[in-house]
Amino acid sequence: MNKFVYLFNEGNSEMKDLLGGKGANLAEMSRIGLPVPFGFTISTEACNAYYDSGETIPTEVMSQVLEALGNLEKRMGKRLGDPANPLLVSVRSGSKFSMPGMMDTILNLGLNDETAEGLAALTGNPRFVYDSYRRFIQMFSDVVLDVDTFFFEQFLEEIRTAKGYSSDPEMNAADWSEVIEGYKNIVEKHTRKPFPQDPKEQLFLSINAVFNSWNNQRAIVYRRLNKIPDHLGTAVNIQSMVFGNMGNDSGTGVAFTRNPSTGEAALYGEYLFNAQGEDVVAGIRTPRPISTLEAEMPEVYRQFAETCEKLEKHYLDMQDIEFTVEKGKLYILQTRTGKRTAQAAIRIAVEMVEEGLISKDEALLRVDPDQLNQLLHRRIDDKSDRVRIAKGLPASPGAATGMVVFDADDAESLAKEGKKVILVRPETTPDDIHGIIAAQAVVTSRGGMTSHAAVVARGMGKACVCGCEALKIDLKKRVFSAGETSVNYGDVITIDGSTGEIMVGEIPMIEPELSDEFKLLLSWADETRAISVRANADNPGDARKALEFGAEGVGLVRTEHMFMDAARVPIVQEMILAESFEERSAALEKLLPMQQGDFEGIFEVMKGLPVTIRLLDPPLHEFMPDKEELLVEITKLQILEPDSAELKEKEHLLRKVRQLEEFNPMLGHRGCRLGMVNPEIYMMQVKAIFYAAASVAEKGITVKPEIMIPLVGHVHELREMRQLVIDAATQIKEESGRDFEYTVGTMIEIPRAALTADEIASEADFFSFGTNDLTQTTFGYSRDDAEGKFLQTYIERKVLPENPFAVLDQNGVGKLVEMAVKLGRTTKPSLKTGICGEHGGEKSSIDFCFRMGLNYVSCSPFRVPLARLAAAQATI
Ligand code: ADP
Ligand code: MG
Ligand code: MG
Repeated sequence: MNKFVYLFNEGNSEMKDLLGGKGANLAEMSRIGLPVPFGFTISTEACNAYYDSGETIPTEVMSQVLEALGNLEKRMGKRLGDPANPLLVSVRSGSKFSMPGMMDTILNLGLNDETAEGLAALTGNPRFVYDSYRRFIQMFSDVVLDVDTFFFEQFLEEIRTAKGYSSDPEMNAADWSEVIEGYKNIVEKHTRKPFPQDPKEQLFLSINAVFNSWNNQRAIVYRRLNKIPDHLGTAVNIQSMVFGNMGNDSGTGVAFTRNPSTGEAALYGEYLFNAQGEDVVAGIRTPRPISTLEAEMPEVYRQFAETCEKLEKHYLDMQDIEFTVEKGKLYILQTRTGKRTAQAAIRIAVEMVEEGLISKDEALLRVDPDQLNQLLHRRIDDKSDRVRIAKGLPASPGAATGMVVFDADDAESLAKEGKKVILVRPETTPDDIHGIIAAQAVVTSRGGMTSHAAVVARGMGKACVCGCEALKIDLKKRVFSAGETSVNYGDVITIDGSTGEIMVGEIPMIEPELSDEFKLLLSWADETRAISVRANADNPGDARKALEFGAEGVGLVRTEHMFMDAARVPIVQEMILAESFEERSAALEKLLPMQQGDFEGIFEVMKGLPVTIRLLDPPLHEFMPDKEELLVEITKLQILEPDSAELKEKEHLLRKVRQLEEFNPMLGHRGCRLGMVNPEIYMMQVKAIFYAAASVAEKGITVKPEIMIPLVGHVHELREMRQLVIDAATQIKEESGRDFEYTVGTMIEIPRAALTADEIASEADFFSFGTNDLTQTTFGYSRDDAEGKFLQTYIERKVLPENPFAVLDQNGVGKLVEMAVKLGRTTKPSLKTGICGEHGGEKSSIDFCFRMGLNYVSCSPFRVPLARLAAAQATI
């Protein structure tokens, strides 16, 4: 017989697959002697069995649940449904990977009209009992009976107003009792049945509902976003209740063992007196910071702080802990590895090494390279003027500017139109998740640092300001006010999640710098990694940034970017329009010193580090004016100035544009095909490189240009272009009397080049995999067409696992890379290999490059830190 149900004393933290993260950790905490209310866990296998048997709980599972319940009752000395001494339980979801708030939980199960009276008599605290019962009816109805919470909240609001109260704590037992009657009527009205009174029925219906919640919309969206597989299923935890709502000697809270925003090693969290479970997270009341608990309940605080330390030492990572205090006694209800910002992840990893808790390798593995871009974002310039209209809690760092929207659907639809938006809400709920994804940042007027908005924003690396009570939000009128200022839907604001400030309008931002801890962690990465990291840089500024971020060379200089400078475009056009060799040479002569200057700048910055320069790659029409625009101008001139020279000129331009037009420019006259037909263009570029090399060498700076021929498909192309480079170098060495080293290599970006890499290697000193084009040509996709038209559908329907332009397709494109490296090295064992496509800055692709034995990866300067870390992780 399959075992589907595990008592807390039968599990441990290793059993996450089976018990889910919550269940496994509840078992583990019981095992190490922490005060955890007893209970049992129904396994994820039971969840899958539930789905396999057409969404019904198999009888085998049912009987095991009843047996475990019997055990729990015996241990607690209470029975479910016994009016004399009723057992109350929570029914809690929990999958292998934590999905905070995504699935459903029910508290206080086991209450009905009879047990409520019994418990009121037993505890002598009817207010607490009725408060618990009304919560139960609402949660159960929402989760199991599908009656919207809205109806209950509306009713509660009516009662509160009628009684002249401003908040729940003012409600007394009789008031709650009245609420309960109203709630039961609401249930009956919406379900045409009375609220279920049988506790066993309540239990099994709840288990059903938790299983179902695995497939609710927000859980599905969350799994997509976090790449959690759909087949894992959720476990269900049944746990005896402890009560934070028994009075002012009771409470509930959430805490992190270190600050999840900055990483500071200090207890960080919040709690509410006389409250239950979700109140803290839901943002209904703004909770108090954990530090004040020390003064309020010194003994409980001391015990809690001790427990936190114990948990952190046990799990060797920062923990996110839920606790409840019942009449002065502390209980721990959950622990998990805490989600954190990149900044916190780095600081915690580094400090845990310094504290001797973890190794350097472990620290390197703790930080997700994908998170690092958070730190490399621009932030608000401290020196800029800012008019602050309000200040809330600094819940997730970073700065953002965008249009104000007040609901998640608006956020999503405006973002689809390419607008930057900031979602402003009283509080957020898991139903807002799509809006948070779409927004640049989130602002809430209620809720603390552990509220839903804060947790989700930190998880996504988005800026967030929460609990900003100065904001008066009117959702109907779509406006909020802060003091004298009011801000309408669509107005632009800027927020700073590191300080909690909210400002009107757009505020200037500055470039990021690396913190000391970050630099230290990256230096450990450099000690470890066995693949070098270069950057793609087209100008001295980029090269400087790349060096600052730790690049060990430039892997790709795209020379065409030097042509696109506004001042140069007319000369480039002159060159393209030239009718004779002489005319063309004259234009090229003008371009040469400009390009030379660019190269000198880059060489000077890179001081002897290798610089790979790719000769002109795109088709020439890219430097020409747009055909449609030309036509409009010509038509205008024909009417207004039919005899003008300008018209003649424009018509000439149009003829040339038409001549250059191609059916399929991606596969057209570009790359080395330009050099083959118009060698004078490549010759000019190569001369510019070597003149620059000679002049920089004169200043005593070493130069190592690596000249790269793009789009080679046949060895003969490379042979001719290589000869052109050698001729130019020889000539300039003679002219200048200077010697400089250089190499000549090629991009591998056409499948035929990969297939004949052994032949190509005979003419190449290095290969650089241009995996952008190689992906286009291997799949036969035109990237610009694919991304907008069908790729998204392919990914949604799982025809492709990922966008192959973002994540290297290891099985297809990767096979060509592997083959080319092997073939190339059979001809030339010393062949240097690297990658310069965008994949060079993506962690799984970097891992692949390492395994293929490439010498380096090259990516944009801002991704260099990420690549250094990912390269270390690949090596460990
Ligand atoms: P989530 O996964 O959304 O955090 P949980 O299952 O952790 O949901 O429960 C939600 C809230 O209810 C938490 O604050 C938790 O501490 C509280 N809670 C759950 N079970 C119990 C219990 N047995 N006694 C008291 N509070 C509980
Ligand atoms: Mg929880
Ligand atoms: Mg290319």
